[in-house]
Amino acid sequence: MSVDDKDIVLEGIAASAGIAIGKVFLLEENFCFVCKEVPKSFREAEKKRFDDAIEKTRSEFTITYNRINDVLGENYARIADVYLLILDDPTLKKNVYKLITDGINAEYALFKAIDKIIHFFENINDSFFKERKVDIQDVGKKILANLFCKKGKNLIRVDEESIIIANNLTPSDTVSVRGKKIAGFATDIGGKTSHTAIIAQGLAIPAVVGLKNISLLVKAGETIIIDGDKGEVVLNPSSKTLLHYKNKYDLQLSRTVELEKLKNLISETTDNHKIFIFANIDHSDEVPLILNKGAVGIGLYRTETIYFNRDSIPKEQEHFDIYYRVVQEISPYAITIRTFDLGGDKLTKMGLLNLGFESNPSLGLRSIRLCLKYPEIFISQLRAILRVSVLGKVKLMYPMISCLAEVRAANAILNKVKEDLRRENIKFNENMEVGVMIEVPSAGVVIDSIAKEVDFVSIGTNDLIQYMLAVDRVNENVAYLYDPMHPAILRFIKRIVDEGHKARIKVAMCGEMAGEPKYTPVILGMGLDEFSVSPSQIAPIKKIVRSVSFMDCKTIADKVLKLEDSKSILKEIDLFCETRDINT
Ligand code: PEP
Ligand code: MG
Repeated sequence: MSVDDKDIVLEGIAASAGIAIGKVFLLEENFCFVCKEVPKSFREAEKKRFDDAIEKTRSEFTITYNRINDVLGENYARIADVYLLILDDPTLKKNVYKLITDGINAEYALFKAIDKIIHFFENINDSFFKERKVDIQDVGKKILANLFCKKGKNLIRVDEESIIIANNLTPSDTVSVRGKKIAGFATDIGGKTSHTAIIAQGLAIPAVVGLKNISLLVKAGETIIIDGDKGEVVLNPSSKTLLHYKNKYDLQLSRTVELEKLKNLISETTDNHKIFIFANIDHSDEVPLILNKGAVGIGLYRTETIYFNRDSIPKEQEHFDIYYRVVQEISPYAITIRTFDLGGDKLTKMGLLNLGFESNPSLGLRSIRLCLKYPEIFISQLRAILRVSVLGKVKLMYPMISCLAEVRAANAILNKVKEDLRRENIKFNENMEVGVMIEVPSAGVVIDSIAKEVDFVSIGTNDLIQYMLAVDRVNENVAYLYDPMHPAILRFIKRIVDEGHKARIKVAMCGEMAGEPKYTPVILGMGLDEFSVSPSQIAPIKKIVRSVSFMDCKTIADKVLKLEDSKSILKEIDLFCETRDINT
């Protein structure tokens, strides 16, 4: 943190480009720490309020139990039993009542009582009891949410042009601000390629993440500035600083107008090498926006948002209705629908309670692994995708593939679904292309085998970098190590491209690396066939493509592939851009 006159500048991670000036809307997570004195005459009512919250939580757990029981059977449903046991613990109630009798509000009393139980468990030298800590905390949070009469974070009250400040925003929180005029957001935790950051880019909301303690430093209603380009937040801005950023904001608007002129131009290099620039979308509503930005198709439709902010698993018809609209809107362009990639930082409730209990969710039961474990959920989605495949150029893509066996297992389910549809006389495109994401290093190593069994591959650099460099993509503490220009990453990408081409299939890139203009000449030169980027990055990437020659790009790619560290690689790229007057 640096202090200049009145300004307080906080440095974080640039998550979504742009400038935002607005008033703080603070999403308080620490509300449980607020201790208020309750007058004697209100203490019985306070106990009743606590009892009501317990009952509400109990009925939620019962619904969850029934839902898991229906979908996954009793063994899984028993997970919810643990929650009910904690909820009914007489010591919890006794301790909360005692504190309320002493004049403490129900929220704080609950926080203290839960804290006491956790301490007790922590002191038992047994890993089973130590691990129950998370369950107890979770139950505490649920009761607390009901004491506050709200489920999770309440973004409904957000005013127009607010800047949301939170310790963390989950991808589902971020999706829920869609349609509201949020000026920007900033969070204590998170990394550049966290899904929250990616969704913010899709919504064109300037955002800075990984600020460590901004949620403790700001006050609701105060004016702050988000600089999503530099990854900075200015608190307490002086009038001089405000003017500086207002000018920057205006400049940004005029740049956007300038870039819009590229909308209808094709993306080809000065020596006529054509490259497709598709859009990544997270939500079905985004199609008009991406067409307006000049996208020539959708290279990645992240369908997991269909599963967010709900308590039930979407049914086939719901999937179909959503895809039907998207396919109609994007036609005659192509769309690649990725089957759901839940887990990791994209947790959802949906009754699959055990999803939240993994100690290392990025390496856990996520994505295609979930699909293969719960085929009934996967099948509903596959049926809907196959049914829309006759309505446009629809391709299907599996995420998080780590070995050939997973491709085969997913395809076996797909083939079974196709057989069912044939039997039911339901039409689908028999030749629908099926591809995989290459985002787990092991899949990249065996790309030669995988490429023989799929129609295309798309490199998911967000995860690929995370797994190759062992850097959690949502952890701000290691964000400095998250380096797309690491020689290992570049050489690996080159190998994937070459092996894909050997097998005569197209190789796309849909991770955030594809949307970074600075990297465009190198990625282009490595021979990628397609880029799929956040909507806001379509025009900036097209601008670079149109100002370079493919020959030059190949030369710089060959050069940097021989370099030994990212610093020298970046220096080479800067030199390339400077000599061609390219402004990235
Ligand atoms: C990726 O990992 O690069 C990718 C595009 O998928 P996601 O960001 O949804 O994990
Ligand atoms: Mg991924």
